[in-house]
Amino acid sequence: MNKRLTKNPMPSQEAEKRKKNFEEVALGYTKEMAIDESMRCLDCKNPRCVEGCPVAVNIPSFINKIKQGDFVEAANIIKENNSLPAICGRVCPQESQCEAKCVRGLKGEAVAIGYLERFVADYTLNREDKVIKEKSNGKKVAIVGSGPSGLTCAGELAKRGYDVTIFEALHTAGGVLVYGIPEFRLPKVLVEAEIAKIRALGVKIITNVVVGRSISIDELLKEGFQAVYVGTGAGLPKWQGVPGEDSLGVYSANEFLTRINLMKAYKFPEYDTPIRVGKRVAVLGGGNVAMDAARSALRLGVEEVYVIYRRGRKEMPARVEEVEHALEEGVQFELLTNTVEILANKEGRVTGIKVVKMQLGEVDASGRPSPVPILGSEHIIPVDTVVVAIGNNPNPLIAQTTEGLKSEKWGGIIVDEKGMTSREGVYAGGDVVSGAATIILAMGAGKKAAKAIDESLRKKARV
Ligand code: FAD
Ligand code: SF4
Repeated sequence: MNKRLTKNPMPSQEAEKRKKNFEEVALGYTKEMAIDESMRCLDCKNPRCVEGCPVAVNIPSFINKIKQGDFVEAANIIKENNSLPAICGRVCPQESQCEAKCVRGLKGEAVAIGYLERFVADYTLNREDKVIKEKSNGKKVAIVGSGPSGLTCAGELAKRGYDVTIFEALHTAGGVLVYGIPEFRLPKVLVEAEIAKIRALGVKIITNVVVGRSISIDELLKEGFQAVYVGTGAGLPKWQGVPGEDSLGVYSANEFLTRINLMKAYKFPEYDTPIRVGKRVAVLGGGNVAMDAARSALRLGVEEVYVIYRRGRKEMPARVEEVEHALEEGVQFELLTNTVEILANKEGRVTGIKVVKMQLGEVDASGRPSPVPILGSEHIIPVDTVVVAIGNNPNPLIAQTTEGLKSEKWGGIIVDEKGMTSREGVYAGGDVVSGAATIILAMGAGKKAAKAIDESLRKKARV
């Protein structure tokens, strides 16, 4: 047992260097670092870390295999419950899940479960997985959306012998993993490699199909799919509703990040799809999406990037690590500040934002202190570009085009505890049900629905 109180730190690119490139910031453990870190695990009889994992990975068991230097078996153990470990090892908020529960965290730092998961996933990335797959049962299931939720549901059903087809609106599979999260946090070759393993289970992915436009869910059911899982995410941006939001140079974070990541603006002129950002960028919001937008803007060569957030640092929803990385790279935080108006010149192009200072008042419905404007504190920050990153809701298209499918006013599809919607045979999960959340929760929902679909179709076959 290693009694060290702190985790082995993650080797990373230096801030000064990394803020000028889109290469991955975190470089990963070496074998020696991984084995050394694994020795900190106490192999608890009642492992609290597993309770903190939404897909119940057998954490002590995979860490034990690392102790023995058997990295392939360690990866096999993770993959029994998590089909996207190289992704989750990088971007899961372990600090509020498995690691938050780890007993080593009571006195010192938790075991670096995420870093260890990433290490074994990378070690085995290009090897064939040990797959236990039932023989084909001839039943067809359709999945709408190829984000982490749809991919997980598809993989689970394929392993149970189903003929699974994913329909994806974009030209590339992966959802937010490919269009939202930037290359420097999640390299796309890894996403492609993990999706290839899901395809290897027999899952078909048909891109450029907008379900609700190209084909409806009712038509899919008529075409012989016996169940449909909707994992269409939350891709509809929210706006602040301030004057000037329709000016040239205002982007939703979704558009901004999609142009940079999916359309490869960061590789201009190699890719003929640049993005215009100017010299000063303001990002409105304080979550992970805002951090990704701000750090991407820096890497495009912008001179000054401001994050404008109406509450304080403590209330920011972004991961602490992401905020620290943004600060190290030179992003400027204008906290307790809110946008009042976006200013534009006579051609309609952004020239600045008018903001007001805020103070924290009573706790509001979100459980956080409500920000209250300080009268007379308005001032102008000159900028060329504004990125609005204040959240997303689900797109209402599926709910509007599917007979009998009930949804919330804000667009979330309503499901029962098994993920079944009000329409028989149609299940849903991930951000389209919960609203914008996390990758692992979206995966957990896909897994749960796969089990429910399997149980329901087996029951029908017996009747
Ligand atoms: P999505 O990933 O949104 O995938 C939905 C897919 O459905 C998309 O590919 C979409 O094109 C497709 N689709 C939509 N409508 C249709 C239709 N009508 N027909 C066919 N296809 C359709 N979470 C973390 O855990 N850690 C992070 O660090 C993190 N960072 C993030 C950074 C950004 C910039 C963003 C935007 C989100 C981040 N999240 C993070 C949240 C996380 O990515 C999401 O919670 C997760 O991707 C939700 O998965 P999903 O499968 O439900 O939806
Ligand atoms: Fe190991 Fe921590 Fe899990 Fe205990 S709680 S088994 S120490 S990772």
